[in-house]
Amino acid sequence: MSNEQLDALREQLDDVNMQLLDLINERARIAQEIGQVKSTAGQKRFDPVRERNMLDMIAENNKGPFETSTLQHLFKQIFQASLELQEDDNRKALLVSRKKKAENTVVDLKGEKVGDGQQRLIMGPCSVESYEQVYEVASAMKKEGLTLLRGGAFKPRSSPYDFQGLGKEGLEILKRVADELDMTVISEVMNPQDVEMATKYVDVIQIGARNMQNFDLLKEVGSHNTPVLLKRGLSATIDEFVKAAEYIIANGNENIILCERGIRTYEKATRNTLDISAVPILKQETHLPILVDVTHSTGRRDLLEPTAKAALAIGADGVMAEVHPDPAVALSDSAQQMDIPQFQAFLESLRESGLYKL
Ligand code: PEP
Ligand code: MN
Repeated sequence: MSNEQLDALREQLDDVNMQLLDLINERARIAQEIGQVKSTAGQKRFDPVRERNMLDMIAENNKGPFETSTLQHLFKQIFQASLELQEDDNRKALLVSRKKKAENTVVDLKGEKVGDGQQRLIMGPCSVESYEQVYEVASAMKKEGLTLLRGGAFKPRSSPYDFQGLGKEGLEILKRVADELDMTVISEVMNPQDVEMATKYVDVIQIGARNMQNFDLLKEVGSHNTPVLLKRGLSATIDEFVKAAEYIIANGNENIILCERGIRTYEKATRNTLDISAVPILKQETHLPILVDVTHSTGRRDLLEPTAKAALAIGADGVMAEVHPDPAVALSDSAQQMDIPQFQAFLESLRESGLYKL
């Protein structure tokens, strides 16, 4: 084939492309008009019977060379695009998204703010074991100017035979210590029926990784004003994580803090794989503050400091890590909690790096 012939065919193809372009847009305009008529008549936009008829028409009239299934696939894409065109973009945007709200959400925890540009540390034992144990960690934190205290009273454990937490008694201990030292308390709740009770003791309700898609629990915490710290599920995609937060906001509670805590991968060197890029992605896509839990993501004491620095450097609103007076005898997460001198060294190293400013 000569070059001239090829050029001529290409010209014809360009012509057809332009005709298709006009036709597809013409079709879109008609679909929009249909959408308006349906909307005034209060009818649903998607009509499967009508779509079936259109696909049948394509099958009956197809003269090739394209296979009918190929054409039906292409037309389905056009139908779908037309349907999307009929929907209001802003109406579809999630309440947690930047599209809906451009400015950052700042969550107020008894005067301490998360998401205001100042990066915070949230620390404390994995489980609440006794008043003395919590007091020892909390007073070491307070001495360093840290006021956000975590501690688990309801513990989600893989084995039913492992320590399940002190329950309500654990919340009472946390509240007593927090009142004595003027601190803010964060603790996990697993059962929707415990939420109301827990709001009397804690300042922030944590939804643990294993409950990220416990939709009844999400709806329940959404119906209170108490701030919620929502952890990413063990195998949750960022999209699922964001939609779990949407459950909370959709039920009326805007005070949400997200927490990346590592996800399950094939890697065995760490307990989970810290998905550090989730931080800037979530910052771009949502207006919510985001923390990084370095304890549960790594499961390794030697990695707490470098991963905390990475989290601060990438723009997390805070870092969560576990501290126990004597990790060797801790009732949970013994391998990864820092003791008090390690906590002090951790803090000093973050301060020296210039990354942590408080
Ligand atoms: C916790 O923070 O106490 C905890 C159990 O973490 P996760 O839900 O992230 O495993
Ligand atoms: Mn733990």
